Amino acid sequence: MEKTLIELRHISKRYDLPNQGNVRILEDISISIKEGELISILGPSGSGKSTLLRIIAGLVSPSEGSVLYNGKQIVGTNPGVGMVFQSFALFPWLTVLENVKLGLDNRPLREDEKMRRALSAIDMIGLDGFEGAYPKELSGGMRQRVGIGRALVMEPDILLMDEPFSALDVLTAENLKRDLLELWIEKKIPTKSIIMVTHSIEEAVYMSDRAIILSRDPARVISDISIPMPHWRDKTEFQFTEFVDQIYSIMTKREVKPVNVPGEAKKKIEKFPEVPAGALTGFIELIDDLGNTVDLYKLADQFNLYLEDFLPIVETAQIFGFATIRQGDIDLTDIGHQFADASVLERKEIFKAQVQKYVPIIEKIVRILRSKSNNKMEREFFVEIFEKHFGTIEADHQLDILIDWGRYAELFAYDEEAKVLYLESETAPVLE
Ligand code: ADP
Ligand code: MG
Repeated sequence: MEKTLIELRHISKRYDLPNQGNVRILEDISISIKEGELISILGPSGSGKSTLLRIIAGLVSPSEGSVLYNGKQIVGTNPGVGMVFQSFALFPWLTVLENVKLGLDNRPLREDEKMRRALSAIDMIGLDGFEGAYPKELSGGMRQRVGIGRALVMEPDILLMDEPFSALDVLTAENLKRDLLELWIEKKIPTKSIIMVTHSIEEAVYMSDRAIILSRDPARVISDISIPMPHWRDKTEFQFTEFVDQIYSIMTKREVKPVNVPGEAKKKIEKFPEVPAGALTGFIELIDDLGNTVDLYKLADQFNLYLEDFLPIVETAQIFGFATIRQGDIDLTDIGHQFADASVLERKEIFKAQVQKYVPIIEKIVRILRSKSNNKMEREFFVEIFEKHFGTIEADHQLDILIDWGRYAELFAYDEEAKVLYLESETAPVLE
């Protein structure tokens, strides 16, 4: 039985945000990480993955719960941690050597010892010969090698990496992943555990022993999957694609939200993915063209898309009742097929029916417009209401998307210039 290295006990995090009040980001997260584990954390964008990493590093303190390192609760920064950032976070005015040495800034080491360790880390990460170079002289892949070197020079027990390969082109990323994995598997680094945030399922299955999947609003652990495949893993192997499909299927499963909970003082307005009707239509057509059941993983791969780009549109298709997801496969429903095969006008009719059924807030907008004698209402009015639920920027986005859907369904019209929603069928808007 391997020793527990890090333990997260009932971690919650809230932020006080203007217009939104106290927003829960993380909710009751308990994870235990053992020596020898390489763990991936997956979750939708904005779910709180970076926040969770920062809490483990002790850079952010949790609202509730505690982080234990070697059985002791950490206070302040976690001494056992080295961190790698997506943006590399290098100092442009320092050389490679100086940037890497920075990792030892707070260590009580003699200068020559710091130098020795920094040079050895630079060597290990494949930057031999570039000690004197400045970041601007290096490619993205090499810059991230410096970022990793700066973390490894500390010889941390735990290496935390926040989407370390996301900013790199595919080939460079693959290369770096392989090099890092080699250091890890062959125990060339004393690091006891690696925790990596990623939005690539394939990357998670390629590298990690465990994949932890977070939900959003707030983030909870919705799945913790162990991936007991020996390295090096072959992406074309059946077992590999099985794991990828399994994780896809978990991440695309729509959370069933309780509707109209009795006694709830203020009803929450549901937040929808920001997918315009045109994008949804194109997607449904594509799935229809590809035949009956489509493997989402292969689809994303085929178009070289990341999960993050892909999930909102899949979710929207589910919300509208056009598609179902099972085991990483997407299937059009009967109404989804009808929609794909319909003429433009029929399509609008079907879309309208689905919107009315599944997006009740649109009906409320229509009712408000109808109740006004001139059948129009300033956009500001709705923004104002939405801000109570979502915050300023999000309120604007949510209204944009509802206007897009409402217009496509011809439930109402919108005057971009005057920023006014109005009912078209009745009278044309009288704009003063
Ligand atoms: P992820 O890394 O999964 O994309 P983050 O952890 O960066 O997500 O952020 C999760 C949520 O917490 C986001 O909605 C973000 O706006 C919010 N958030 C993060 N840091 C802060 C902060 N310091 N103050 C207020 N809100 C924050
Ligand atoms: Mg992040």
